[in-house]
Amino acid sequence: MTVKSDIEIAREAKMKPISQVGEKIAVPGDALLNYGPYKAKISAEFINSVKDRPDGKLILVTAISPTPAGEGKTTTTVGLGDGLNRIGKKAMSCLREPSLGPCFGVKGGAAGGGYAQVVPMEDINLHFTGDFHAITSANNLLAAMIDNHIYWGNKLGLDERRITWRRVIDMNDRALRSIVNSLGGVSNGFPRQDGFDITVASEVMAILCLASDLKDLQRRLGNIVVGYTRDKKAVLARDLKADGAMTVLLKDALMPNLVQTLENNPVFIHGGPFANIAHGCNSVLATKTALKLADYVVTEAGFGADLGAEKFLDIKCRMAGLKPDAAVIVTTVRAMKMHGGVAKNDLKGENVAAVAKGCENLKRHIENMRKFGLPPVVAINQFITDTDAEIDAVREAAESVGAKAFLCSHWANGGAGIEDLARYVAELADSGQADFKPLYPDDMPLWDKMNTIATEIYRASGITASASVKAQFKDLQDAGYGHLPICVAKTQYSFSTDPNLRGAPTGHEVPVREVILAAGAEFIVAVAGDIMRMPGLPSVPSAEAIRLNDQGHIENLS
Ligand code: ADP
Ligand code: MG
Repeated sequence: MTVKSDIEIAREAKMKPISQVGEKIAVPGDALLNYGPYKAKISAEFINSVKDRPDGKLILVTAISPTPAGEGKTTTTVGLGDGLNRIGKKAMSCLREPSLGPCFGVKGGAAGGGYAQVVPMEDINLHFTGDFHAITSANNLLAAMIDNHIYWGNKLGLDERRITWRRVIDMNDRALRSIVNSLGGVSNGFPRQDGFDITVASEVMAILCLASDLKDLQRRLGNIVVGYTRDKKAVLARDLKADGAMTVLLKDALMPNLVQTLENNPVFIHGGPFANIAHGCNSVLATKTALKLADYVVTEAGFGADLGAEKFLDIKCRMAGLKPDAAVIVTTVRAMKMHGGVAKNDLKGENVAAVAKGCENLKRHIENMRKFGLPPVVAINQFITDTDAEIDAVREAAESVGAKAFLCSHWANGGAGIEDLARYVAELADSGQADFKPLYPDDMPLWDKMNTIATEIYRASGITASASVKAQFKDLQDAGYGHLPICVAKTQYSFSTDPNLRGAPTGHEVPVREVILAAGAEFIVAVAGDIMRMPGLPSVPSAEAIRLNDQGHIENLS
């Protein structure tokens, strides 16, 4: 049997004009700002006009700690939206926009897979409606204004050694991690150490995703701390008068993008991925608007539930007042096998014992969701190599901690392959079992918040930090930022900070290397272990194979 690639399946899609997709959720034509026939932004006026309607149910799709074998969260988020529609529910999904970094690196695109995809897949994975370019431009406008301010006399007294604002680009480019700018003589300014992060990890991305409207967007942009004076006084983007122009650059990007699944169901794709180094959720505006338009909204949070779901709940839901009604934890037999100690190249044969052992990882994520008051259910994303005994082992593991597990074949069969899960999820969301509460209260000191995440979610013995990092915690607490939530930057592969420690480790220490204030996004980034905010490309990047064929079609974009 030859299996069609994601892009081949996507190209065969029978897309409907985007106005017809909008009709499914009663979005009128004049509320759609079209970007070609199959993509549209939803107008700010329309969003404003629905804001007093009652909310639908919010369903979070999260996952076990990822493995190089791939889990299929996005595929499942898309499939579950289709499945809910198939059983007669008014449902839509809210996804994150793909980044060019992984597209040309190793992980590939992020528009789902198989028969559970969003289309037009190529557009979505490449430039889409230009949101990331707008974010890059707004971020780098601020950077340019910082160096320009210094060049023209530095009236604000910015200490060039204490500038914290970095430049960004939506690319995996390790050469830009650490650079010296302004070289080349007097007319080029004052050389200083600088560096680039990937756009999706930027504070501007987080601000766009967390802003409630244009006014809130500008307020948050103005609050960005770009650096400090010699006597350690914070200098804000507002002090540089950059917030107005940044808002102008982001005005269109703030509006959610509407596209469709292969089954023509509506999907919002808006805002950034990268839950390891950013907060990694789609925009508050997209989720909130979807809740006004559909009875069931399925949204994904990146990577494992220790990172993506924790931040979705402790940052996004806390800030936006969202109250999720159920959590779907995606797992695969292959991933459980890897958590059980099997190497990627040995995944083919049946190995029930390894699957059962690896399920310790799944069980912990299930328990963790309950700590937030969310009822969990497991989606087993079926691969053709899975055996019945292996699937039973996953089901038993889930049941041993009181969660149901459903075998889902949406990748192969679209919405029809995930109806059982859809029925159960609708029931669970309607049951009123959920009683969402964040993990820690706002008024807990920053150090204790980080320690709570480490001990309760990562099951570490505690956190450690050097004297200077401890001083950073104290400075931020004293400066009045103690009420903010923590956004942990950590490897996605393990509950610990060691990417090779799979399964469900306990007793490890979580070293906090750095603490960064994101005053505009309104969270504190705590960098745990070795993790970079600018990824690199692998030895053979996907970019080497991506090309246009003789028919003008894109090949090998997955
Ligand atoms: P995640 O969101 O967890 O990173 P995706 O949903 O983007 O994962 O899926 C990653 C890749 O794995 C995609 O290329 C997709 O086609 C593939 N994939 C997902 N589920 C399956 C499956 N059940 N069988 C085979 N391939 C799958
Ligand atoms: Mg994904």
